[in-house]
Amino acid sequence: MEFIENEVKEVGPGVWIRVAVDNISWCDLGNAGVVIDALEDPEQADVVRGLVKETTGQDIKWVINTHWDKDHIACNPQWRREGATVIAHQFCAAAAGAWEGRPDISFSDHAVLRGTDDKRIQMHWMGGTHTAWDTILYLSHAKVLHIADLFGWGLIPCQPTPRKIARLREVLSEILVFDADVVICGHGPTATIGHIRRFLEYFDDMLEFVTPLAAEGKSVEEIEEQVPAPEDMHDWWRFTDWKHKKNIELISTFSLEGRGEVEAAQAT
Ligand SMILES: [Zn+2]
Repeated sequence: MEFIENEVKEVGPGVWIRVAVDNISWCDLGNAGVVIDALEDPEQADVVRGLVKETTGQDIKWVINTHWDKDHIACNPQWRREGATVIAHQFCAAAAGAWEGRPDISFSDHAVLRGTDDKRIQMHWMGGTHTAWDTILYLSHAKVLHIADLFGWGLIPCQPTPRKIARLREVLSEILVFDADVVICGHGPTATIGHIRRFLEYFDDMLEFVTPLAAEGKSVEEIEEQVPAPEDMHDWWRFTDWKHKKNIELISTFSLEGRGEVEAAQAT
């Protein structure tokens, strides 16, 4: 998967991304500029404002945060001071408290931000795996879907537990039905719906094959030898460097702690 750090590209009509370890994307709604997420470095606020102006001619009127992790919200305070309105899920608002980057508008399940003509951003809350806050954004007019950190180029986006495994299957399955040519994720290159489908298969395979080996007490290295990274995923961003191994670790932890959770649940 090609990764050109800081490449600025238009991924659909009026929808832009600056690809990096921490991505930032923005969209021209026809009557306003919208920024999606707000990075980890507040010093980037001016840089991004300049990029939005240069590519779309718009000022930043709206900021939408996909979730409230610190690497997604740092520019909120400055953009808010400059007059932008921040939108995020109500759980984000609860987490923000009185912080100056807090959301001005929040929602419980779905919300739509409408621009001119058919330009719009639909927000769908899909929390409960990576964070309680996760919201995906669908820009139907551009066939672009932003799925926050729910896809991490092969990295399982949360510590698996029985509840989170079920929820991850549920949200990723919902994501598969969107009509999108491009999928933006929080970190790294853009993807496609096909990548999400492949990840779901991989996730199921990993749970099936890694869990019994971990239960036998095998080490992460031993398991990796028996369950290597699938050949067709070798070009996924940073996947063979560390993510596949990290997944084995996560599932190994789950197979020990997960049983604890089940036992605790049965005891009560
Ligand atoms: Zn993130």
